[in-house]
Amino acid sequence: MKVNAILSLSALFMASVATAVMPDDPNKIDTCIMPGVVALTFDDGPGMYNDQLLALLAKKNVKATFFLLGSMIAENAGQAASLKKILAGGHQLASHTYSHSNMDNMTADKMKKEIQDTSDIMFANSGVRPAYMRAPEGRCAELCTKTMNELGQIISHWNVDTNDWRFAADKPDVAVKNSMVEITDVILNGSDPATDSFILLEHEIHQFSVDLLAEIVIDKITAKGYRFVTMEECVGKPAYLAGSTVPTTTAATSVPTGGNTSAAPGVTGVPTTGGVAPTGSSSAAPGETTAPGTADKDTDNAAGFVKAGAWAMGLAAALGYALI
Ligand SMILES: [Zn+2]
Repeated sequence: MKVNAILSLSALFMASVATAVMPDDPNKIDTCIMPGVVALTFDDGPGMYNDQLLALLAKKNVKATFFLLGSMIAENAGQAASLKKILAGGHQLASHTYSHSNMDNMTADKMKKEIQDTSDIMFANSGVRPAYMRAPEGRCAELCTKTMNELGQIISHWNVDTNDWRFAADKPDVAVKNSMVEITDVILNGSDPATDSFILLEHEIHQFSVDLLAEIVIDKITAKGYRFVTMEECVGKPAYLAGSTVPTTTAATSVPTGGNTSAAPGVTGVPTTGGVAPTGSSSAAPGETTAPGTADKDTDNAAGFVKAGAWAMGLAAALGYALI
């Protein structure tokens, strides 16, 4: 089967299940602990549009969470400077691994290096070590889950997706329209702030996502009656590992060095060592085998084109294999 045909087929299937959300999986956080909130998350940065995005968020008084790549921080000093600006804006820093590689193809040691290297470069550029991580493409099966739990990392999934990376080559107005499809179905038309909450995935490296999409997303979701929160507030566990120093000008939680803390309601504990945390706070159940997640970045497989449902997952796996 040709790739284009697969993608078209996948788009059709995605459209037919657009209102579905990710199946429950205790290993992955994909909703907040309280209704009426949306955690706005931006992946794959720090990118060249970060300043512009921070200005928009400040204008809208919205706090977001940035899942950053260690490699992106390393390659550009200007972008590395973004970390302190993100913190100064009251936003949350989080890890998207170092190399944006498929965690499920790694040994546990390699996964630990991905997390530790990212933690180290984030600490060097911001003073914090993130406690929240998002696996590239959402791929974090049994070994990854176990390893992240050992590191005290909170595996941060999502339950609504702009799919913006797929439309980055389109004309901006078309890209925005397509990126709003799932939000419109799932949040604007298919949810109730009295009962629902969302973790919403965008990317900060696509110009239209920052120039156009982000403001529309914020305005429409605000009008629906939701309040935007960081992942820390969404999940109720500290944003950073012990040893982190959070600027006092931010709304983020300060994390004292050593020992556990009760910094926020519902907090179950803070890992006691930077990066490697035997007393991790995750309540995830070990041993859970997870299906491949939805892709959050253009890659060489089609698993991310199908949103949910056992049959759809089966199809995704088949398509993924067809393309790898
Ligand atoms: Zn990504």
